[in-house]
Amino acid sequence: MSFISNNITNNIKPSITLLIDAKAKELKGKGFEVISLGVGEPDFDTPLNIKQAAIKAIENGYTKYTAAGGALELKKAIIGKFKRENNLDYSLNQVMVSSGAKQVIYNALMATLNPGDEVITLAPYWVSYPEMIKIAGGKPVIVETNFDDNFSINIENIEQAISPNTKWIILNSPNNPCGSVYSKQELIKLAEMLAKYPHVHILCDDIYEHLLYNNEKFFNLAEVVPHLKDRILIVNGVSKAYAMTGWRIGYAAGNEELIKAMGVVQSQSTSGACSISQMAAVEALNGPQDFISSHKQIFQNRRNFMVEKINSIRGLSCLSPKGAFYLFINCQKLLNSKTTEGELITNSADFVNYLMDRALVATVSGSSFGAEGYFRISYATSEKNLAQAVDRIKKACEELQPNG
Ligand code: PLP
Repeated sequence: MSFISNNITNNIKPSITLLIDAKAKELKGKGFEVISLGVGEPDFDTPLNIKQAAIKAIENGYTKYTAAGGALELKKAIIGKFKRENNLDYSLNQVMVSSGAKQVIYNALMATLNPGDEVITLAPYWVSYPEMIKIAGGKPVIVETNFDDNFSINIENIEQAISPNTKWIILNSPNNPCGSVYSKQELIKLAEMLAKYPHVHILCDDIYEHLLYNNEKFFNLAEVVPHLKDRILIVNGVSKAYAMTGWRIGYAAGNEELIKAMGVVQSQSTSGACSISQMAAVEALNGPQDFISSHKQIFQNRRNFMVEKINSIRGLSCLSPKGAFYLFINCQKLLNSKTTEGELITNSADFVNYLMDRALVATVSGSSFGAEGYFRISYATSEKNLAQAVDRIKKACEELQPNG
C-alpha cells in the first residue's frame, strides 16, 4: 500500500508547464543552450516603483501576518481597481487576497465542491483547472472549442453539458493557451443561456485582462450582465500584467458568502499571502500604469513576428491570438512522421519531446491543455530568443520524414 493517497497517485497530474520549465533549467544547468518557451511568465523585470514599495515595507517592519483575507490597504486597492477599470462595485467583504490567482481558484473549488459536483471547463484549458477540480473532489466536464471556429465559445455545446450537478463553469478570456477573447456579444448570449440555470456559478479567470492586442477592449461578464454579478467570481492577480509572477499575489471578487467560505479554506491552509508582496501589489494597482501599454506593444510585435514565422514552417499553422502571450500551434500534419533516428512521432507529446531533444526548445504539448494535435509556445521572451527558437523549430520540422 502506498503512503501517498490514491487520489494524488491515480487522479492528479503534476503541473506540466512547471515540469517542463524544470527540465529546461536542468538541461541549461548541464550546459545545453535550451530556449525555454514553456512557462508563461513575462520576461520583464518588476517595475522599480513596485520593488521600492516592497523594500519600504521591509524597512518599516511590515513583516508580520496580515489579516488572512488580505491587508486592508490591498483590499481597498483591489476595490479601486474594479471600480476604475471594470466599473464594478465591491465592498471589503466581497474581495480577498491569496498567494496567486492559482490559490484563489483552488480556494473557490475547495470551498464549494461536494463529491461528484461538476465543473464545466472549456478546452483548450489552462492545465491546472481539471486537476484542481479533482483535488477538490469534483468532476471536470470538458466542452471543446475548435481551431476552425477561432476557439470561440459554442453556447449550445455548453448548455448540453449542464446537468443538475453543475456547480461552476470556468471562463478564461484572454485564454491560456489559445489567446481567444470573448466579445461582449458572446458574453451577452452566454449570459442569456446561463440565466436559465441559477444553480450554475461562473468563475471568470481574468488574469490576462491587460494583455489584449490591437486596442480591443476587455469585457468581464459581471460588467456586461450585472444581474448575474452575484453568481460570478472574478479571479485576477498581479503576476502577468505587472511582471510579478514570483511575488505570488492574486485576488478575488464575488458574493460575500463565497468569499467568506474561501477565507475559511485559506485561513486553515496558508494563513494568507506574503505581507511584503501585498504592499508591492498595492503600489502595482495604485501606482503608474503606463508600462502596461508599452509591455503590451512589445508582446504584440512579438506575436506578429512569431505568427508569421510559424505559419511559414511546413506542417505547422496557428491563428493570430487576440490576447495573452501564447501561440497554440497546430502540428497535426507532422504527426505520424519519423525522426532521422527512425523514431515515430505519434502525438503532440512526442513532438514536444522531439523539439526539446533535437532543437533544444522547450514547449508544451496540446494534450496537457485538453487538445491533442497542438503545442503551446509562450512568446514572453526576448526577440533574440524567439528568432533563434523559430529557426531551430523550422530546421527540426524539415528533418522529419513521412512514415512509410
Ligand atoms: N490562470 C491562468 C489562465 C494562468 O495562465 C495562470 C498562470 O499561468 C494563472 C491563473 C495563475 O496565476 P498566478 O501566478 O497569479 O497564480
